[in-house]
Amino acid sequence: MRWEGRRGSGNIEDRRGMGVRLPIGGGIGGIVLLLLFSALTGTNPIDLINVGGGDAAPPVGTTGVREDDPQSQFVSVVLADTEETWRKIFDERGDAYTPPILVLFTQATSSACGTGSSAMGPFYCPADRRVYLDLSFFRDLDQQFGAPGDFAQAYVIAHEVGHHVQAAMGLSERMAGMRERLDERQANALSVRQELQADCYAGVWGFYAAKRGLLEAGDAEEGLRAAAAIGDDRLQRQKQGQVVPESFTHGSSVQRVDWLRRGMDAGRPETCDTFSSESSRDRGM
Ligand SMILES: [Zn+2]
Repeated sequence: MRWEGRRGSGNIEDRRGMGVRLPIGGGIGGIVLLLLFSALTGTNPIDLINVGGGDAAPPVGTTGVREDDPQSQFVSVVLADTEETWRKIFDERGDAYTPPILVLFTQATSSACGTGSSAMGPFYCPADRRVYLDLSFFRDLDQQFGAPGDFAQAYVIAHEVGHHVQAAMGLSERMAGMRERLDERQANALSVRQELQADCYAGVWGFYAAKRGLLEAGDAEEGLRAAAAIGDDRLQRQKQGQVVPESFTHGSSVQRVDWLRRGMDAGRPETCDTFSSESSRDRGM
C-alpha cells in the first residue's frame, strides 16, 4: 500500500504498556505485592491482574501516534482513510458519520464490553464505539495464518470499522435484540451474516482506497488471502482437525473472500445485504 506520508487519524487512543487494573489497590505497593505473590506461587503475574469487573473506568491512553512508530502510523492512516470513505457514503444519504476511536493496547485492556485480551484478536465494542487492536495480531496474521502484507492488516482494521458502521446504522442493536430469541445454532448463523457484512464493508472501503491510489499490485490478493485465512472452516481444521459448520460464527473462507470481493468490486454498502441474501453460497453451507 502507498500509505506513507498520508494524513493520519486523530481518533487513536494509545494504551500500550498501560496494563489493566490490579486486584490489590494498584500502585507501586500493589505491583510489589503482586510480584511477590506471583514469585511465591509460581503464577504468571499477568494472570493475576484483575480481568473481571467492567464497571471501573477504563484507562485513558494518549491520543494520536508518535512520529517514530511506523506501525501505529500505518494504522492511523488506514483509519483516516476509512473515515473519509464512510463520511462520504453517509453524507450522500444525508447522514453524519461519527467515526470510532481505535484503541491500541498490549495484552489486555478494559472496554465497555468487558476486558479485551490479545488472545481474542481485534474486536469492536458497540457499547463504547471503540475498535480494540493489539498490533501483535498482525504478526500472528503473517506467521500463524500465513497472511502477510499491509493490505491484509488494513482489511482487519476496515472489518472492525465495518462493525462500527453496522452500529452507526442501528444494526448492532437490532441484532442483539434478535439474538435473545434464537437458539445457539440460529444465533451463530446470524452472527455469520453480521461478520460477512463487516467483510463486505471492508471491501467497500478497499474500493475507495483503490480509487484514491492507496493500493499497489498484489494488495487486493493480500486482503483476500487474509479473509480466507480467518474463515471458520480453516481455523477449525487448524485447531481441532475437523469442521463443524453449525458452530461457525464468522463464515467459511469461501464466504469471507466472496463478500470482501463483492464490496471491493461494487464500492456500495447496498451490495452488502448479507441478511436477505439467499443463494446457497451465502447460507451456512
Ligand atoms: Zn468481526
